[in-house]
Amino acid sequence: MEEITVNIHNHSTLSDGTGSYHEIAQAGLTAGIDCVVITDHNVYVQGKDAYYYRDGRKILLLIGEEIHNPGAQPGNHLLLLNPPKEMAGLADQTQAIIDAMNAERGITILAHPYENGIPILKMEAYSWHNWAIQDFTGIEIYNFMSEFKNNSRNLISLLQNYFRPKENQLGANESALKKWDELLCSGRKVHAFAGSDGHRFMKKIGFYQVVAFEYDFLFRSLNNHVFLSAALNGDAESDKVQIMTALRDGNFFIGLDALASTKGFRFTASTEDGIVWPGSQALLGKSATLQISCPQKCLCRLISNGKVLKQWDEIQSIPITVTAPGYYRVECYLPFRNKLRGWIYSNPIYLYRG
Ligand SMILES: [Zn+2]
Ligand SMILES: [Zn+2]
Repeated sequence: MEEITVNIHNHSTLSDGTGSYHEIAQAGLTAGIDCVVITDHNVYVQGKDAYYYRDGRKILLLIGEEIHNPGAQPGNHLLLLNPPKEMAGLADQTQAIIDAMNAERGITILAHPYENGIPILKMEAYSWHNWAIQDFTGIEIYNFMSEFKNNSRNLISLLQNYFRPKENQLGANESALKKWDELLCSGRKVHAFAGSDGHRFMKKIGFYQVVAFEYDFLFRSLNNHVFLSAALNGDAESDKVQIMTALRDGNFFIGLDALASTKGFRFTASTEDGIVWPGSQALLGKSATLQISCPQKCLCRLISNGKVLKQWDEIQSIPITVTAPGYYRVECYLPFRNKLRGWIYSNPIYLYRG
């Protein structure tokens, strides 16, 4: 298996971001990620998927979209990856968008489902409210910008978090994690995604130009680490298919690389169907052996069917035999500045009885 880093949910000058496609790709090359996905608000530019190159490295820039209904209450932002065409015309019919995307193997993700606004900056909350919808691909359990907002409720914390952006990140959103487990327990196969919500906010205050969250900083901070069966071959079209298929199937984990690199994390299950990876389902038989392997020692939790099945306070690698059907997923935590931070979140492996 090949592991690549994919950073989704970024805004360009075509909506409320301040970077062009070219600048965002350059920031991705600086950060060393493999793929960046642009999702501008209610605008999809077709035909701009492309590789960008610099100093012997390459990055694949893909275009998606973030849709909301401007005529409705704030919130319900839906990310589209791999859209077949512009869907903003259906902004008031979320389920119709999801159905149309599913028909074309597109990916739909509920963006920043739980967030608070920042009243002193007049920044609103854009949470997800429409839980009647079905068949979406995933939920953004971790949105870098939302967690900044959630942790910056007063002027002091806002200034601290602006000047030390890495330190305000505590991990995935607790309410989103809870909702994700609830959806998984109800039998729905929903994948967890991380989004930067990158904008590179710029504002002139007097003579001072305030810049918040450079793209390359975000690309080094929080990523989706995607497992591919073959290495990227440099052809934008076929590489896009491979990456989108893996994202649609949940073959990835979320890594807060700002704390320490999460590259090399592995979670697999040895089953009657062979060895399977996150996002896969397999026949359980009498038992299966899960194997967790982390890039460094950390606190590690194995979660199954909404409950913490096992917690290890300090491990790097461990096998564990399980006998019950259901979903299994892993969370890893690292201490940083005297606080335990959510570091890695795997998508589930689903084990079922024949
Ligand atoms: Zn949004
Ligand atoms: Zn956004």
